[in-house]
Amino acid sequence: MVNVHEKQFLLDCGEGTQIALRHGKIRMMRIDHIAISHLHGDHYLGLFGLLSTFSLLGRTRALNLYGPPELEGLILSHEKVGESVRGYPLHFKATQTESAEILFEDGSVSLESFPVRHRIPTTGFLLREKPRELGVKRDWIARLELTLTEILSLKRGEDVQRPDGTVVLCDQACHVPPPPRSYAFAADTRYWEKVAEWVQGVNLLYHEATFDAAMKDRATKTFHSTATQAARIAAKAEVGQLVIGHVSARYENADALLEEAQLVFPNTVAASDGLILEVSR
Ligand SMILES: [Zn+2]
Repeated sequence: MVNVHEKQFLLDCGEGTQIALRHGKIRMMRIDHIAISHLHGDHYLGLFGLLSTFSLLGRTRALNLYGPPELEGLILSHEKVGESVRGYPLHFKATQTESAEILFEDGSVSLESFPVRHRIPTTGFLLREKPRELGVKRDWIARLELTLTEILSLKRGEDVQRPDGTVVLCDQACHVPPPPRSYAFAADTRYWEKVAEWVQGVNLLYHEATFDAAMKDRATKTFHSTATQAARIAAKAEVGQLVIGHVSARYENADALLEEAQLVFPNTVAASDGLILEVSR
């Protein structure tokens, strides 16, 4: 679950997602966007329950769903055989695995998909804050009695020439807004260098690390990654922080995989149930 200025984006929805959302005290009805990376059960089987919970809770607001083309049919046939009535519109947008693509954007955030390499068609997702506009310092507005036209020019980044011949420099009169942040979710994928291009420079990268380096062959065969490979992608992409997850059940915990990844990319953490990370600049 990614919260961008109180807009909530759910990326993948495995079994147990509703329980995890409740434990995390996340307001489910605020979720307006759900993106599904691929149609392996551990990534989408929680969706059916969540969609009907929305109806039970009286949702009327539209829900935007993004995922592989077959997902829409799965949901519609599930609803049809159960003769269930959904109380809200579902806007479905099919993803594709040819190129990166913007799925949604508004004034403050964009959601993109990008292809990864897994056994079946799979995409990762990337959320980016939009750059915030410049803010003119209040004391400058008062002191110079700036007009609305002058304020708007400064907000556009322009210097202002005044009738008395003086110039108000945008650099001095405006607050510099904080740089926008970004988060990429690299889904299930084997090691693929192209992923580093898609996620270049993001502040926080989630990359799967199913196996340890000794199981590299098995990782390649099953279209998954090792912890070392996840860390290599993070290093190549020069991301701010890496979070690894999707650890195979053969490992008691993620400690060894985390150590392995940190040798290549020190600023790595391991995902765990209920973990909350702040995306830092
Ligand atoms: Zn998978």
